[in-house]
Amino acid sequence: MKKVVKFGGSSLASAEQFKKVGAIIHADENRRYVVPSAPGKRFSSDIKVTDMLYACYETAEKGEDFSGQLAEIKARYQEIIDGLNLNFTLDQDFEIIEKNFREQAGVNYAASRGEYLNSKIMARYLGFEFVDAAEVVRFNEDGSFNDEVTDELLSERLKDMHTAVVPGFYGAKADGTVVTFSRGGSDITGSLVALAVHADLYENWTDVSGFLIADPRIVKNPRSIETITYKELRELSYMGASVLHEDAIFPVRKAGIPINIRNTNAPEDKGTLIVESTCRQPKYTITGIAGTDGFASITVEKAMMNSEVGFCRKVLQVFEDNGVSIEHMPSGIDTMTIFVHKDAFEEKEQKIISDIHRAVSPDHIELESDLALVAVVGRGMRSTRGTAGRIFSALAHAHINVKMIDQGSSELNIIVGVKHEDFKNAIRALYEIFVLTQI
Ligand code: ASP
Repeated sequence: MKKVVKFGGSSLASAEQFKKVGAIIHADENRRYVVPSAPGKRFSSDIKVTDMLYACYETAEKGEDFSGQLAEIKARYQEIIDGLNLNFTLDQDFEIIEKNFREQAGVNYAASRGEYLNSKIMARYLGFEFVDAAEVVRFNEDGSFNDEVTDELLSERLKDMHTAVVPGFYGAKADGTVVTFSRGGSDITGSLVALAVHADLYENWTDVSGFLIADPRIVKNPRSIETITYKELRELSYMGASVLHEDAIFPVRKAGIPINIRNTNAPEDKGTLIVESTCRQPKYTITGIAGTDGFASITVEKAMMNSEVGFCRKVLQVFEDNGVSIEHMPSGIDTMTIFVHKDAFEEKEQKIISDIHRAVSPDHIELESDLALVAVVGRGMRSTRGTAGRIFSALAHAHINVKMIDQGSSELNIIVGVKHEDFKNAIRALYEIFVLTQI
């Protein structure tokens, strides 16, 4: 059995955290391939090494003295090395980094050093081999990621290695220019390594015990989700739940490798298992509740709209021509409503309205802003009667007016639109009815 283990920044922020990680890896000999992030925050007001690197490189780019900033970064690593009692130095690496910063090697190169250096320490600490991601994770000339070549390079390199440490977050073009994924991208590297070695499991270790049923900033001590499918996860992350980088799902999903989100600070917790499909029935009818704020709606009204062929297309064309993405589109007999992100819409508002007038000559256009969408997601809903009923009675009891309803045809989710001021209460009311009062 082979497991790939990825550790996030907070799991590797100090020597203490490194020791926990070491114990986790040694506790299971299947944990053979390790993908570290850069050191994250040690306490809430601390700064992530990746952010320190960005700031330091900005100074270097301006041609100003960055030696103090680089020394602070070096001190973060030295503290880890000393705390682990390693007979090891990064002096030479820092000399190279300093030279490359002076020669303006690029912001991606700068950011990538966080993972590079942390992985070198990790390899030394574990006695595993270090594999530089620049040699095995490939980006195209235009900066886009090349999954095919990466899979070839990674599988080839790792095939005879029993254990290895591969830094997360970056790779390189064929000419060696370093490129990073977007922030949080070490999750993607972990997924790529899992695919390349045909892992049985991709463990993603972080500082929470998996996905929670609802946002802990809104619901007090929400329970965690034991098993979630990729589809459910996609619905919840679209709605703002974030633990895992979205692009991390595709490589492993393709190969049917489950992801297990685990907590470095509570390794006894089972965390959340993300799978393609499962017979395991969720404990509750729903798997999770998520929501996002900041939507606006545009309602277009016209008598006899239903018999006018091409009406919807013409309205949608206006949004497309103005480059505004549509999020939801509930419709009535003589009305259609379009939900968009308020920020994207606001600046083009008047132009879009006049374009709609020109395109379909509506009787009336109504705008509403400060809307929030709340999604109730769960594979269990398909086989349960009364889910919608419970949602609406819970919201009614909480005195919340529902502005929009959208049930996906997969019966995997029900989305309701509410006013911004009702957003948090709606999530609390739904959590209460589906989780707290469920027997
Ligand atoms: N260190 C990078 C960041 O802070 C990547 C990662 O941690 O996944 O975004």
